Amino acid sequence: MEGKPKVSSKIIPLAAHKGAEKLCELCQRVARLQCTECRVTFYCDAEHQQADWVGIHRRICQLLVPIRTQRAGQIVAQRKKAELIEICRSVAQQKLSEGKHQEALPASQFCLRCSVDVHGPDTVQLVPAYLLLAEANIGLGNLIRVSELLSQAEWSVLKNPDCGHAVQHRLHRSLGRLHTATGNLEQALLHFANDIYFASEEFGLDSPITCRGYFLMADAFAKQGKTPVVRSLYSEVAQIWHCRLTNLLENRIQNDNQSDKAQQVEVDDMLRTMLEFEQEDFRKDPAQVARVAHCLAMMWFLAGDFRKVNHLMTFGIRGWFDTVTHFPISSLYRLNIGLCLIGEAVKIGGNYKIQWILVDFFCECSQRNIFF
Ligand SMILES: [Zn+2]
Ligand SMILES: [Zn+2]
Repeated sequence: MEGKPKVSSKIIPLAAHKGAEKLCELCQRVARLQCTECRVTFYCDAEHQQADWVGIHRRICQLLVPIRTQRAGQIVAQRKKAELIEICRSVAQQKLSEGKHQEALPASQFCLRCSVDVHGPDTVQLVPAYLLLAEANIGLGNLIRVSELLSQAEWSVLKNPDCGHAVQHRLHRSLGRLHTATGNLEQALLHFANDIYFASEEFGLDSPITCRGYFLMADAFAKQGKTPVVRSLYSEVAQIWHCRLTNLLENRIQNDNQSDKAQQVEVDDMLRTMLEFEQEDFRKDPAQVARVAHCLAMMWFLAGDFRKVNHLMTFGIRGWFDTVTHFPISSLYRLNIGLCLIGEAVKIGGNYKIQWILVDFFCECSQRNIFF
């Protein structure tokens, strides 16, 4: 059927109502369509069906059957709902990390509905779902909704102060982001300070999660025009990631699971922001440019994207070049790692342009009397 969207094969008009009126999975309005795959999920229109399918339903369509047909007993149904919460949480988290905020909504919403079913309303177990929904809405700019969701989360946490450092860290991070978005920067900084405290208690001072807190805090300081603080926070972030990626590279740990892929997108975005900041600043620090570019190159090397590595290493080498004359020996060691990396990329990617850059580089080094 020409021009007909592929997805419509999965929905059929709802037959005459039997018993209670069916409601749309996404907006809770009266449903007119039914998912043909599971037959237990309903939609007001094809647009909502499509949004739900892309957002979460394709992952959980069949899992809903035993729960919604009440084929499973009460205990089994509760267990299956707990599994659904985990799936929705990870799908939403993945989409958020990739910046797909609209697509993250169905999974986050369903996560909240399931959490209410399993744990009851006003419980602290709902907080992760509130935070996912809030994060999706921050991305979409629905700040009033974010504020409502975070108030609910804050209230639950206040009533359960023993809810754990991880939950507190995520709550403060979301509040910090909300206040950054509304321009209330002093409040934002206060929340980021709490975020970093709880994250470091839970994950350690130089974990990538805590590190993200430094980055967000730097963003708030940047909006206040406090460039020196931004520089020092960015430098901290770059050092943590440089150290981490160097270790990963030396141990050759390949990133191929989903959460690492999501993290790559987030880290790529973060490092690029730092690279731009450094390049736009008139007091440009070539060592920082090199370190950040090197981080990006190592990350994409580990992910197997050699096209990106080539481009970034050219960048990184130029940065090292500018500082190499007054660099301590330990940095030359790092430079060596960078060069080995290019060597690998050349071997695998067969890129001759990079080989020429290397030749140039070694010529220049020998002229400057730099030996490795
Ligand atoms: Zn709807
Ligand atoms: Zn279905």
